Amino acid sequence: MRSLLEPTQIRVKNLQWALHLSIFPALYFGTWQYCVLSLIVFWLIHGIGSGIGTHRYYVHRTFETNRYWQIIFSFLFTISTSGSTIGYTLVHLKHHAHSDKEHDPHSPANGFLRAWLGMYSKSSLTLSPKIFMRLMKDPIMKFFHKFYFGIILFYIIILGLINPLLIIFMWAIPAVAQFHANAILIALVHDHRIKYLGGYRSCATSDDSYNIWWLKPLLLGEELHNNHHAKPASVTTNLGNGWRDFDPLFYIIKYIIRGKIK
Ligand SMILES: [Zn+2]
Ligand SMILES: [Zn+2]
Repeated sequence: MRSLLEPTQIRVKNLQWALHLSIFPALYFGTWQYCVLSLIVFWLIHGIGSGIGTHRYYVHRTFETNRYWQIIFSFLFTISTSGSTIGYTLVHLKHHAHSDKEHDPHSPANGFLRAWLGMYSKSSLTLSPKIFMRLMKDPIMKFFHKFYFGIILFYIIILGLINPLLIIFMWAIPAVAQFHANAILIALVHDHRIKYLGGYRSCATSDDSYNIWWLKPLLLGEELHNNHHAKPASVTTNLGNGWRDFDPLFYIIKYIIRGKIK
C-alpha cells in the first residue's frame, strides 16, 4: 500500500523539511524583487496548482477544462512539492469521507502538531487501490505521478541555468510557503481554538471545519473551509454570506480558465 502513497509521503516530507533550510540563503540574498517573485510563484502554485487544479478540479470535479489546463495544473502542483495530484486526491477524498472522525488521515484532533507537519496516522491511511487504479487511467495524472521527482529536478535545472538564485526564490521558498498553507488547510481550519482568532462556522456541518476570512490574501478563497465542507461539489466556496465569502479563485476559473462549470 505504501507504493500508492509515493510520492506523497516519506520522500516528499523529507524534502519539504529540508527545503526549510533555504530560509537562510533567502535571508542573505533576498531583495524585495525576489520577495515579490516568490509571492507570485506561491500564488500560482497554491491558487492554480493546488486550490483550483488539484482540489477543485481533480478531487472534486467541480468544472471541466481542456488538457492544456490539466497539464498546467499538474505541473504547478508538482513543483509545489506537496506530493502528486494522485496522492493528494486519495488522501483528500478520505478526509472528506471521515472528516474529524476515526479514519480521517489528518484530523488535528489526533495531535495538532502532527497534522501541521503532515505526519498522517498510518492506521487511517489505508487508501483505496480501486480509486488509485481509476486515477492512473488518466494519462496526465499518471505521467506526473510516475515522473514526479524527475519533473521537479527538470524545473530546478532550468531555473539554475537561468540564475541559481531562482532555485531558492522560485522553488524552495514558495514550496515552504505551500507546505504551511497546506498545514493551515489541514490543521488550523479543523481546530475549535481558531474561533478565538476570527474563525467562524457558517454551516452546521458534522465536522469541526472553520472559515478564517483574514487568511484570504494568502489562501485566495480556500480559507472558507467550513463552506467547502458544507458544499464540496460547488465550484466556489462563496455561499453568499456577505463580503467574507468573497472567493477570488472562482473568478480565475470563470474568466481565465473558462472552465465549464458543472
Ligand atoms: Zn477539511
Ligand atoms: Zn475538499
